[in-house]
Amino acid sequence: MHNTLSIDATTGLLIGTRQVLSPHADARPPGAQPALVVVHGISLPAGEFGGPWIDRLFCGNLGSNRGSNPTGVGGGGGSQPDFSAIAGLRVSAHAVIRRAGEITQYVPFGARAWHAGESSYQGRAACNDYSVGIELEGADLVAYTDAQYDSLAQLIRALCAAYPTLSTERLVGHSDIAPGRKTDPGPAFDWPRLRAMLV
Ligand SMILES: [Zn+2]
Repeated sequence: MHNTLSIDATTGLLIGTRQVLSPHADARPPGAQPALVVVHGISLPAGEFGGPWIDRLFCGNLGSNRGSNPTGVGGGGGSQPDFSAIAGLRVSAHAVIRRAGEITQYVPFGARAWHAGESSYQGRAACNDYSVGIELEGADLVAYTDAQYDSLAQLIRALCAAYPTLSTERLVGHSDIAPGRKTDPGPAFDWPRLRAMLV
């Protein structure tokens, strides 16, 4: 498969890709390089796909419509589900891959996104310091789409090309670095399929 994605290593931005830069990011600690790719799954509301909610969560304005539909039930234009339990979270990821394979970047890859939380990889804690977090729009028990695998494989190849400290050998799920606390991307994610695409 050809690779259509590339990253400007100076800015840490994907070229020609939708960007919605998040305030939920900061600098990596001095000397920390991207050395691990963490795959996540996310859906808002849980189990539902589409909508602007992931953008809003990662930009800190998920609660901006609250009050227009306080029940979070039904309703038409302008209403939104009840996200009060998560609206105050300060989280992000470097990129999200939607169900149709569309990539949105939220944080430059050279910066630290806030995706992993309390975590550890091979004895090294605080994975946000040295990882790239990629969210697939999905749910633990729902098959991810062909387009998502294609985009994810392209993105990982582009990352490895831009950052020599990354490797397809250091590729994990959120559940691997936060066991007992996180389950994403879940059993629906086909690791052998992804690994075969990266050979
Ligand atoms: Zn996650």
